[in-house]
Amino acid sequence: MDAFELAAIPKSVYQGECFVIATKHHKSIALAPAFSSRLGVGMMEYYADTDKLGTFSGTTQRKLSPIEAAKQKCLWVLERTNADFAIGSEGSFHPHPDMPFINANHEVLYFMDRRNNIEIYETSISTKIHYFSEIVSSQEELLNFAKQARFPSHGILLCPFPKHAGQKFFQEITSFEKLIQYFNEAKKLSSEGKVWVETELRAHLNPTRMKHIEQLGHQLIDRLISHCPQCKAPGWGQKKLSTGLPCKDCGSPTNAIAAEMISCSQCQHIEEKSYMPGENADPRLCPVCNP
Ligand SMILES: [Zn+2]
Ligand SMILES: [Zn+2]
Repeated sequence: MDAFELAAIPKSVYQGECFVIATKHHKSIALAPAFSSRLGVGMMEYYADTDKLGTFSGTTQRKLSPIEAAKQKCLWVLERTNADFAIGSEGSFHPHPDMPFINANHEVLYFMDRRNNIEIYETSISTKIHYFSEIVSSQEELLNFAKQARFPSHGILLCPFPKHAGQKFFQEITSFEKLIQYFNEAKKLSSEGKVWVETELRAHLNPTRMKHIEQLGHQLIDRLISHCPQCKAPGWGQKKLSTGLPCKDCGSPTNAIAAEMISCSQCQHIEEKSYMPGENADPRLCPVCNP
């Protein structure tokens, strides 16, 4: 096979298309290379004030769930641009579902294809997070914190201590000059002469989180190059984590977790993974036996 033939093989049904990601924080840096090399897709950013949906620093409270927020970002792209393909990303930090004492980074990547009416998302949880916070009152303490927090590769934000709603936050700090300047300003504003400092969790200022988003990008690409064995739609591999397990008594689909059911986002085709054969749900969870 010569080079021309190799180049002629499409990488995916999306080859040559452009995906638009709604972001304020340059997330295409993490995603674009793999989408290009593995799908043949270009990526553009649609600048959206995603902070409106909530911020890590708490200056804006989050109202939507992370999945809803990621979907909302896709909807912004489709409503406000002519793009047919939208990507939305949302991250959050809370305890790991299986290890409640460990804080984890939860990421969602949502994809909408207006042309083929496809809507899928992938999620990932990582305990590899880079986050530190401290209350400091001297420049020496500040610089010790900065060293521990791997500043300036990871950004810092600070505010006068005690932290309260509506106060001034000094954000996106990535230079020692700004760090010291804002520290002095915040210290003056503090009734106790103390400053709250913490690691920036926004993707463009936190390479550890950016890496996680990149990994999740690969997971979404895996979905987009997988096709439903039945209807051939891309996006095969949706894990029906919470529904459809047959009732032990009557066989009706229940709301019980059916973690091993792989389904299509387009048709009703479902495959059950062989390592969970004959698994059935408690009839108490069955809408037929226990309405
Ligand atoms: Zn039943
Ligand atoms: Zn299908």
